[in-house]
Amino acid sequence: MSGVPEDPKIKERMSDIKSKVIVLSGKGGVGKSTVAVNLAVSLASTGKKVGLLDIDIHGPSVPKLLGVEGAHLEGSKESIEPLKIDNNLSVMSVAFLLRQSDDAVIWRGPLKYKMIKQFLSDVHWGKLDYLIVDSPPGTGDEPLAIVQLLGNADGAVIVTTPQSVAIVDVRKCITFCRQLDLPVIGVVENMSWFICPKCGERTEIFKTGGGEVMANDMDIPFLGSLPMDPSIVIASDEGKPFVTSYAETETAKAFATIVAPILKLKGRK
Ligand code: ADP
Repeated sequence: MSGVPEDPKIKERMSDIKSKVIVLSGKGGVGKSTVAVNLAVSLASTGKKVGLLDIDIHGPSVPKLLGVEGAHLEGSKESIEPLKIDNNLSVMSVAFLLRQSDDAVIWRGPLKYKMIKQFLSDVHWGKLDYLIVDSPPGTGDEPLAIVQLLGNADGAVIVTTPQSVAIVDVRKCITFCRQLDLPVIGVVENMSWFICPKCGERTEIFKTGGGEVMANDMDIPFLGSLPMDPSIVIASDEGKPFVTSYAETETAKAFATIVAPILKLKGRK
């Protein structure tokens, strides 16, 4: 599954974008969207031009995490303008197209494929250094559609929590990437430990290290671990990415290590 996009309109739009990174997870609730948003914001804060595309049709949380729910998009017959967060970061989410954020989306596979295709062909990102895609958890219709339609994405960042029940699904995710010839940029282990704010004791709520062991076992890079940190929940609920709103914390510093290899991507032909 490598090569330029087959669809001519997608090919044209995507030729303006240097690197495309798909954020995946085996399960929901492991922090995939949090990682996708903070990755996009981190890259943008280094001066890169970044687009963040949320294709999590059944649970789009990017607008909430960026505090832009209910935003109104501009567009013409031929194209849709993504929402500009600042000079370097634009965002597009399926949530912007739903009438109410509480609406449930009941769509079958072909319709999802069509919508993702339309996102890729009609959203006018302009020239970008990175397109970060927040995909739904698992290996269903949406991740398959985005990998196939992009054709030459640079790779996947896979987010997991450390316990075996999550790791089992990450292995499936890696197999999915391999079958589609999508490079795995690496695995992020989230919620690896918790430091009690009262006594300072470190507790490994979901155990720790499972992501790294699995990454070594499956011969893929391990990008780093993030603690379970209440400031992430506060930042997320306030719609302010923690890498900027809690920039001085150990968690934000740990995140910088995860971003470093992504900053070195050169784009895939
Ligand atoms: P997913 O996209 O995998 O479903 P989200 O990124 O939406 O997961 O995160 C689910 C919830 O967990 C959110 O409330 C988020 O703020 C919280 N969360 C994510 N990572 C952490 C963390 N490291 N520490 C504390 N809370 C976190």
